[in-house]
Amino acid sequence: MVTSAQCLKKYGEATDNNKHLILWDVPTELEIGLIPKRIYCNKDLVAPLGQAFKNLIDTGFVKEIKTWDGCFNIRKKRGLQTMSLHSWGIAVDINAFENGLGQTPKLSGGFVKCFTDAGFDWGGLWTRLDGMHFQLKTI
Ligand SMILES: [Zn+2]
Repeated sequence: MVTSAQCLKKYGEATDNNKHLILWDVPTELEIGLIPKRIYCNKDLVAPLGQAFKNLIDTGFVKEIKTWDGCFNIRKKRGLQTMSLHSWGIAVDINAFENGLGQTPKLSGGFVKCFTDAGFDWGGLWTRLDGMHFQLKTI
């Protein structure tokens, strides 16, 4: 699993204008109603997230998206001292209201596979359940 130490080494200090961040204009064919048309994220997230969106659209699992709960956000992991990978814009949260920290995730296996096939780790498999959370598997 990618750690904050690896992110710090590769991307440097997490800041609002880290040089690895871009405003990604989501291509029209990958636009999903509930997801912003422009996403401020790490350049390294663009290809995998685009692939995940494509997988969701192609399989129809896209209909499970109820809320987009963000990508770039400089903060510590909730309740911990280490930085969340959201701090470098390589993680996204989806359907947070029903996939809260420590709660049994509600996202289907098919939905999750759309992300894991595209190169993401899913927080719903962690000891500390974080079902809303997807982050890059490698950087
Ligand atoms: Zn998250």
